[in-house]
Amino acid sequence: MATENKSSLRKIVTASAPFNNPAADLVVRTSDRTQFHVVKAVLAVASPVFADMFSVAVNLPSETDSPSDYNEGTPILNVTESSGTMDTLLRLCYPVDNPEASSDDIDAIIDILAAGKKYEIEVAQTWCMSALKNFVSASHPDHSKFRIFVVAYQWGFEDLMLFVAKCLLTNSMADILSMSIPELTKVDARMFQRLWAYRQKCEIAVIRQAAIDLWLGKWKRPWAPLWIKGISVCRCKQVKVPVFVSENNRIDLFPKVWLCEFLDDVKTAVRARFCLLGQELSTNVEYALRRALPKVAKCSECSSGGRRELRIFAEGLTLAMQQSIDLIDSSKFKFKRKLAQASTL
Ligand SMILES: [Zn+2]
Repeated sequence: MATENKSSLRKIVTASAPFNNPAADLVVRTSDRTQFHVVKAVLAVASPVFADMFSVAVNLPSETDSPSDYNEGTPILNVTESSGTMDTLLRLCYPVDNPEASSDDIDAIIDILAAGKKYEIEVAQTWCMSALKNFVSASHPDHSKFRIFVVAYQWGFEDLMLFVAKCLLTNSMADILSMSIPELTKVDARMFQRLWAYRQKCEIAVIRQAAIDLWLGKWKRPWAPLWIKGISVCRCKQVKVPVFVSENNRIDLFPKVWLCEFLDDVKTAVRARFCLLGQELSTNVEYALRRALPKVAKCSECSSGGRRELRIFAEGLTLAMQQSIDLIDSSKFKFKRKLAQASTL
């Protein structure tokens, strides 16, 4: 209330160009008493809400005509938005250059998004989506990124949710649940279900890449000494892995046991730490590699070439894991997929 009283005492000021045109046919007065002189027809084109408002109230204001409802004969429309929000919103409606989004003021962008939704101004919503994506891509604190995820859910922006959810893969669910976000009071628990379902799908996709039969099925030719078609003459144990080369044609291949154990260690590390992206994922693969290399070194025939080839394979594996998450993006995975479905994939 103190703020409102202070606002009501504030001197009325006129907005800067192009919203200071005395020939305008409407004055929009903001909560902090700045007056924007605007052309109704422009607003009506950009906003169906304004269009409806003007069609039923040709001479605003119609209900309580009083001297304060007009500014030198031009009707005043009082709005609850601040002058900063309204300035950006109106510039997006007007045929002028779009304003630059502030790179670090997330509150301002969220306020403009809320106003864009309220007045159904599509161009403002698109502008905010772009600004919020840029914000997420920049190095801001993780709780700010989660805040954008919550806002995206609140307003139903699925693409932005997916974009932020991917960035949040570097955080554990425990981290995310501990983040205090003001907008959490405006969303329901299904938001967390959707986030969890997405993360489950990502984890399944990443761990699938660490399956030996997947790689044996991809590799057209043996990759010695990682795997050969028959029994090796060296001292390394081998594992018999059945691989389907076509629907009804199954063959047995024989990778070295240290290759299979390396992949098992990668899976265990990913499951234990849930780190599916960037440096964290590389750390998981490195951990498994450090355990595997001494095993390879014990075989005099595999030692040199085996360690080199295993390192090369580990790099390819890391890349394939990262790309498996990108494929979820490109296949337009939607959060609306039910939780039960996600757990069966
Ligand atoms: Zn060997």
